[in-house]
Amino acid sequence: MRIFKFGGASVKDANSVANVAKILNRYPNENIIAVISAMGKTTNTLEKLTNAFYYKKENPLDVLNEIKKYHFDIVEHLFKNKNHPIYNELNNTFVELEWAIENEPSHSYNYEYDQIVSMGEIISTKIVSAFLNENGIKNKWLDARGIIQTDNTYREGKVDWELTQNLSSAFLSENGVFITQGFIGGTSENFTTTLGREGSDYTAAILAYTTNAKDVTIWKDVPGVLNADPKWFDETQKLKQISYHDAIELAYYGATVIHPKTIKPLQNKKISLYVKSFLNPDEEGTIINEAQSPLPIPCFIFKVNQVLISLSPKDFSFIVEENLSSIFKLFAEKQIKVNVMQSSAISFSVSIDNDERKLPELIKILQKDYRVLYNENTELITIRYYDQATIDRVTIDKQILLEVKSRYTVQLVVKPTI
Ligand code: ASP
Ligand code: MG
Repeated sequence: MRIFKFGGASVKDANSVANVAKILNRYPNENIIAVISAMGKTTNTLEKLTNAFYYKKENPLDVLNEIKKYHFDIVEHLFKNKNHPIYNELNNTFVELEWAIENEPSHSYNYEYDQIVSMGEIISTKIVSAFLNENGIKNKWLDARGIIQTDNTYREGKVDWELTQNLSSAFLSENGVFITQGFIGGTSENFTTTLGREGSDYTAAILAYTTNAKDVTIWKDVPGVLNADPKWFDETQKLKQISYHDAIELAYYGATVIHPKTIKPLQNKKISLYVKSFLNPDEEGTIINEAQSPLPIPCFIFKVNQVLISLSPKDFSFIVEENLSSIFKLFAEKQIKVNVMQSSAISFSVSIDNDERKLPELIKILQKDYRVLYNENTELITIRYYDQATIDRVTIDKQILLEVKSRYTVQLVVKPTI
């Protein structure tokens, strides 16, 4: 079995979907599971729909219509025959989505979110599967919710590996091409969960693990894994080969090219991961395997819109294990990820993403026991395989507020000075 993952950008319009068929045609007679994301930016729009439904700030039906129109436009380009069953199927799927937002929200936000947002992947895979079947690539559509089993931590479902292994063996042992959804799973009570934003890579890795796949290919709109995000850097270089270890580190620090949870399952079974361009499939791309570290060039990861929070106990006692454990417990409860931290005798600093929904409440709780200072609009720069010259280069025009160094990695929280 080979696992292909097609992200939102690779199915964002009719031409892109046709390109997926072209790519699959390069692999005739192979057993392939294609894991597909929601089309384009649909997940963002579905998040908007969830907010409209839950918080009533705008009319959910307007947002729903936007989503409908986007998909039907694509379908009309792909299927000239208006009697093709996909039209009916899609209409029925949208009725399901309408039901999901019909009544008043009766569950937690995270539960409602998963029931709504997961539909992006259901819709995209139905379209892609029908299009491929129509164009000579016979395939079976599979509902990932019946294979990837999770607990009921909505929006961050934890995979039940044993159940998932059993279901995967039952449903994915035939030969042929399977089309299934990334990002979504199901609970033992048949509710839908999601695995966290950008979780489709993780789905690909889970299925690779459970099917003992030969390899995984993530098809992207970049030529492979670059040493920096071209959004922030003019000159980037493609990395030919990366060790699992480096890939985990880079993803963990926020390189968005691969979802952080993706690598471990592959590493455990020594399954190679390719990152290739869906625009230039002949190009080599990047391979992630048991290569030797270190990488030949420094890698940069930027996170903007950070908040640097510094805490010191109000009573001027020291920061000790007790404080740290209660601070981390609070972060875990609020599902806030600590991007970097540093502690000293009387203060503790963390950099977190600036989430307007969570920050004010967090600060308020912390203020009960700590003197809280915080600095908004900071940036976090992580450099793996750094040297002083690279640090100087990226921090020019920037004030360094915090610096954490380990042997191979430096993390800098900075604030622009101009
Ligand atoms: N569609 C989901 C998202 O945009 C999952 C993914 O694309 O990996 O977060
Ligand atoms: Mg996506």
